[in-house]
Amino acid sequence: MGCIHPTPDELGFATAEMLYIDPDTCIDCGACADACPVDAIRPDAALTADDQWYAGANAEYYQSNPPSPEWYRRQPPQIARVSADGLRVAIVGSGAAGFYAATALLRHPGVRVDMYEKLSAPHGLIRYGVAPDHPATKGVAGQFRWPAGQQKRFALHLGVEVGGAGISHDTLLDDHHAVIYATGSAGERRLDIPGEELPGVIGALQFVGWYNGHPDHARLAPDLTGRRAVVIGNGNVALDLARILTADPDALAGTDIAKPALMALRCSAIEEVVVLGRRGAAQAAFTTPELYALSRVPGLGVVVDPEDVVSGDGPKLALLRELAERPRETGGKRIVLRFNAAPEEIIGDGAAAGVRLSTGEVVEAGLVLRSIGFGGATFDTVAGRVSPGVYATGWARRGPTGGIGTNRTCAEETVATLLADYAAGALNAPRRPEPAGRRLRLWPVGSHGMKKVDASRSS
Ligand code: NAP
Repeated sequence: MGCIHPTPDELGFATAEMLYIDPDTCIDCGACADACPVDAIRPDAALTADDQWYAGANAEYYQSNPPSPEWYRRQPPQIARVSADGLRVAIVGSGAAGFYAATALLRHPGVRVDMYEKLSAPHGLIRYGVAPDHPATKGVAGQFRWPAGQQKRFALHLGVEVGGAGISHDTLLDDHHAVIYATGSAGERRLDIPGEELPGVIGALQFVGWYNGHPDHARLAPDLTGRRAVVIGNGNVALDLARILTADPDALAGTDIAKPALMALRCSAIEEVVVLGRRGAAQAAFTTPELYALSRVPGLGVVVDPEDVVSGDGPKLALLRELAERPRETGGKRIVLRFNAAPEEIIGDGAAAGVRLSTGEVVEAGLVLRSIGFGGATFDTVAGRVSPGVYATGWARRGPTGGIGTNRTCAEETVATLLADYAAGALNAPRRPEPAGRRLRLWPVGSHGMKKVDASRSS
């Protein structure tokens, strides 16, 4: 019906906080609910009182973006099946971007895909980045199972580092027509302020990896003995950190949170998490739906200073104003959202004891989490092509922005470029009859093996 916007070819798709359903043109066919990978769609008649806010947010979008007749003339995108029989592609990285690229390739009969992942479990940030109290989002990995005819043309190699001891880039290129890098972002941004190296200052990548059981961060032992923690930065990752630190451990016990993290959180003394945004409330990096979900966590206080939200408009400011007007509850845990609070130094004698702001104010805390976004080099591409035969997608292509779904359109574009290069004869044929994985006897993991991977993680 053309009733969900923005679509991938509309301005604003890349930066949209969510997709919106037009209540006036939706015919309740339910097709979107079937297709939604994260189970985000509900009929309006089934919304709880708390969820009514989302109905309002959807309707409001169409007041500011009135429907255009063009929307209804547009045909749904057709996925052209190309003649790609015999095409062999290696994908490096098994996160959302890598799996969306595999999905787009396997639709074309005859294409074979070998995926290489350096960790012993697949799905990258879906597994190790999404917060455990967002199980529906983690469930997106469930869509990466294809019909048998496609599945048998796919091989997943776990524990194989490309460019490391496992396999070289040149070998991959020799053994496939093309290599797609879907390796995400290599690291975290740094604050470059005094005190950043003090014990007790932990980057989001490590902290998120710790509570998600990432093998590189499982041994982290954050100091949770103080009553206050500070999170620097106010993107969605910062909200994840603050929410997990203040969550009821009994509620977390029903999730796939790593057991050592759950045990540590059960003993945590933290009652307050202060989230520092260096700019004003109107520029806050968190999205409105994530703020709304936070504002509805039972028993959690979300504190906003009314002075910070005097001016500005839009749904985010309206919600922040509503929070600023809420009566402050005593007792219980709380998250304090601060604005115009740029950190200048992390203070402490031998360990972090707080953050000094540019105003001179000191926010005392025994745990300081840096959540200022990810970094690292990205591939320089044109429509996903680094050079004929070498491609990139996901954060490795775009940089660290956008949620899981953004990777789908990104990967489809990269794959379209690759297929066009193949059709134009721009790709070298593999030098050897077998893809590198099989030739080097790297046995792919099948569905039985995947069940074992998942079971070992939750034990
Ligand atoms: P982000 O959205 O880019 O937020 C980074 C935050 O760090 C911003 O508040 C930024 O402030 C601040 N910052 C950067 N440099 C700073 C500095 N030197 N000093 C102080 N503050 C600094 O990054 P993110 O939270 O890591 O998220 C990455 C992407 O993943 C985003 O697209 C996000 O939406 C997505 N994500 C989505 C979800 C979800 O949908 N549930 C969950 C997690 C992540 P300025 O704005 O002033 O630069």
